[in-house]
Amino acid sequence: MNKLKVYEYNQIKSLIKKLLNVYRTNDMTSHKSHKEYILNDIKNVFEANDMDSSEFISELDDIKISKKKTELLLEKLKADVEDFELPSKKEVDKLFKKVKKLNVPDLDQVDTKTTVFLAWNDLSANRKYFVFKNRDNEYEGMFGELSVNKIKGFCKICNQESQVSLFLNKSKTSGMGNYTKKGDYICHDSDVCNRNLEDINHLYDFIEHVK
Ligand SMILES: [Zn+2]
Repeated sequence: MNKLKVYEYNQIKSLIKKLLNVYRTNDMTSHKSHKEYILNDIKNVFEANDMDSSEFISELDDIKISKKKTELLLEKLKADVEDFELPSKKEVDKLFKKVKKLNVPDLDQVDTKTTVFLAWNDLSANRKYFVFKNRDNEYEGMFGELSVNKIKGFCKICNQESQVSLFLNKSKTSGMGNYTKKGDYICHDSDVCNRNLEDINHLYDFIEHVK
């Protein structure tokens, strides 16, 4: 059975939010074209996975739909979302072989329906760790310094406004043992980031950028 990726589910969630805003505007002429445009975008997300959206769309095609009803629809849609494939503890250890005292969170506690990438903060070392499936569908790991300071700003990964912190990755510039630090502001709490991220390429771009 075909399923939606977690980030595609996030796309649909954000499109529904836009739809509700359109339903609440009074300008009926722009309302209709906006509505069609958004419903079509939602349909495209389903169709990209050869999934039928007709039932879902017909429920949404209702100016009187309540926020509560859309939340229920989204909850129901979770059955059609592909779980994030969790690595084993052993696989994670292997990705960070050189790290001493690696604190891996309890992987059983991860909500695989809201996870695009795995990331956790190690506050004792001021670090954030990332584990994700790369474009070749292989696990990749990366870590860097995470500032304890949180500010309101835009996250380089999910592109949404949230509580962000400066993340810095040490990268080797030459064979002479020289390092530079590259980084950007990202969501301090990666659970928030995972629920916001609508395009996995933004994660890949960020990883490339700080490497
Ligand atoms: Zn983010």
